[in-house]
Amino acid sequence: MFTDKEEFKQTFLKRLEMMYGKRFWESTVLDQYNTLGHMIREYISKHWIQTNERYRAEHKKQVYYLSIEFLLGRLLGSNLMNLGIRDVVEQGLKELGIELAHIEEVEIDAGLGNGGLGRLAACFLDSLASLDLPGHGQGIRYKHGLFDQKIVNGYQVELPEQWLRHGNVWEVKKEDLAVEVNFWGKVECYEQDGRLTFRHYDVEKVMAVPYDMPVIGYDTTTVNTLRLWSAEPAKFPLHKHVMQYKRETEAISEFLYPDDTNDEGKILRLKQQYFLVAASIGSIVRDYRQRYGHLQHFHRHVAIHVNDTHPVLAIPELMRILLDEEGMGWDEAWHITTNTISYTNHTTLSEALEKWPIYIFQPLLPRIYMIVQEINERFCRDLWNRYPGDWKRIEEMAIIAHGLVKMAHLAIVGSYSVNGVAKIHSEILKHREMKLFYEYFPEKFNNKTNGITHRRWLLKANPELSSLITEAIGTEWIKQPEQLIQLKKYATDHAFQEQLEKVKHHHKQQLATYIYEKTGVAVDESSIFDVQVKRLHAYKRQLLNVLHIMHLYNRLKEDEHFDMYPRTFIFGAKASPGYHYAKRIIKLINSVAQKVNSDEQINGRLKVIFLENYRVSLAEKIFPAADVSEQISTASKEASGTGNMKFMMNGAITIGTLDGANIEILERVGHDNMFIFGLTAEEVLHYYANGGYHSYEYYHHDQRIHQVVNQLVNGFFPDAYDHFEPIYDSLLAHNDQYFVLRDFASYADAQQQVGATYKNRQKWLEMSIVNIACSGYFSSDRTIEEYAQDIWNIH
Ligand SMILES: *Cc1c(COP(=O)(O)O)cnc(C)c1O
Repeated sequence: MFTDKEEFKQTFLKRLEMMYGKRFWESTVLDQYNTLGHMIREYISKHWIQTNERYRAEHKKQVYYLSIEFLLGRLLGSNLMNLGIRDVVEQGLKELGIELAHIEEVEIDAGLGNGGLGRLAACFLDSLASLDLPGHGQGIRYKHGLFDQKIVNGYQVELPEQWLRHGNVWEVKKEDLAVEVNFWGKVECYEQDGRLTFRHYDVEKVMAVPYDMPVIGYDTTTVNTLRLWSAEPAKFPLHKHVMQYKRETEAISEFLYPDDTNDEGKILRLKQQYFLVAASIGSIVRDYRQRYGHLQHFHRHVAIHVNDTHPVLAIPELMRILLDEEGMGWDEAWHITTNTISYTNHTTLSEALEKWPIYIFQPLLPRIYMIVQEINERFCRDLWNRYPGDWKRIEEMAIIAHGLVKMAHLAIVGSYSVNGVAKIHSEILKHREMKLFYEYFPEKFNNKTNGITHRRWLLKANPELSSLITEAIGTEWIKQPEQLIQLKKYATDHAFQEQLEKVKHHHKQQLATYIYEKTGVAVDESSIFDVQVKRLHAYKRQLLNVLHIMHLYNRLKEDEHFDMYPRTFIFGAKASPGYHYAKRIIKLINSVAQKVNSDEQINGRLKVIFLENYRVSLAEKIFPAADVSEQISTASKEASGTGNMKFMMNGAITIGTLDGANIEILERVGHDNMFIFGLTAEEVLHYYANGGYHSYEYYHHDQRIHQVVNQLVNGFFPDAYDHFEPIYDSLLAHNDQYFVLRDFASYADAQQQVGATYKNRQKWLEMSIVNIACSGYFSSDRTIEEYAQDIWNIH
């Protein structure tokens, strides 16, 4: 139905009438979107079934990627592209008087994630399917994804997100495959046939109902599965109020990251984690038993990957099944489990390392807790044998200590592979954060530098640049992104440079139109588009960026001869609802924007834009239009970053610190094609080890810093009163934990370099081409090939 334009049109019209009981001319864009979505799902259903049959027949080892987040964004455009039917559909619709682009715009992003970690999971699914690898995702079908952000008077306001409000055409509910998940209750231990046996009773049952979404590979018939679990009430227990039970059950898959500042919230989050794990492993094991019977060789046919520590209960859950359901002994069960599970660490920020209080964990998951205790006791015994008498080390490495269950420790002990997400991050794990574990299990630790799917972030988001690349070097790069390196020979080619400039300008015009529609601010399309889009966090240092903008503003006001290339600073960022400091920075950006944008004296040389509700679909509009990529985290804090890779792939030049994957970008493009500034990770860590630095010295000795820091509290922003005092205090009273003032001068110098270099158009375009040429390494296809080979052993 998609090979022939006429056939497509006929099928589309007929299907629309059948589905909605109205004529085409009465249909809404939403009706058209849903019709198209249904047609695609039907079209791929044969391949979806065949992919599963093929995996089964070939006894392929399967990998299941468990993640609490999948930040998918929109699916229509990328499915059409991967299936190679975009042109037929676009042309056919055009003849019916419909713009495909309009239909794409009505799709609501599947925003089941916060940021990098969830987007990585989505990029990985795309690469797995596109490389014909047997890999599937398992997650939670949250009714509400990450909140929708509105900016009101410069402040962030959160609204519940409602991605399911018009249904979800991509999913298939599979009620017959529901899995029961047990919470609370008691555990009884008795002897049967000479072995200890456990019975978990008086439990509260929850039904996990799977919704399957097809993951369609690029130019292949492989269709893998993303299974998202929804929580529904099971048999109604008699001892509880029915309505309360229903509410509590449905709450499990209601919100992504419910507030966990109180115990009730903590219980809910732990419930979500066990729910995901028990449902996923329950369905994997059921499937496995149907094929192979017993689970003796489970690890030979199944790999289970846990994306950060949220799904780490997969370890005790698999142990529970092997011990209690299969009747295996501990050693055999442990062998299978620790050869099945692999783990990715995403952060070294200590506040982000999950630790659950026993008083919450034990009552909610009594049998799982017993197993974790046993794992801990055996591990501590092994440690004692290796390090006799070294209590301090054992205490530091224990899984359970001081009333807390440490999930990262459980992850390392119970898995066969622990990977960081960029070289520097993996080194910091090995030699600092997880040093003791590295000494004990050196063979488990490895690095897998993150990547992004070049199909969504270049081919789909930037078709104009993609065509230009293909005209120059042919189509090979689409399947083998590292072929982009061929572009290097065009770096100084004037004709190519000129065309690249045109493409960039086109996207800047489009973004300028979007900005005008959303904010009413007209930006200069020939100014430098300098962009920082990512979650708002102190370590990502949006504050450094905005303080520098304030400094530029001051200079423009004070020195009429100050010459600067016109610049538009663009921000997009959500702050966690309870993260008040981050929200004040959002307000600060907006206050600066208001002041700068309305100042006639500035004469358009400086503009500041905050785009609300940063998400995947907005990101796709922003990256192609960026000239400068802001990657300015405090060195050692950003595990990898993936936004940096999307910018690079679209020809933006990075201004950044030697942190995360920036270091590997630099390795490829060299100092001539990147603006590096600031402290190194080693310097930062050295400062931390020696009690920090004296931020007030920088405040006293650098007039620029003195001025902008004072402006936070001296009435410079009349509408914000004392709102920025905590920011002022963080910089001076609390000694500037993120080295904002320490790196200010170095950053300002680098920014000056950016402006000077941009004036040299040929030089800039050359740099841009080198960046695109070197970006192939950062395709998630390369990352997934490494996981497949080194960790999962899948083919
Ligand atoms: C890529 C991406 C991120 C991650 O950005 P970083 O700069 O690596 O933090 C976050 N959110 C969205 C919507 C993304 O597309």
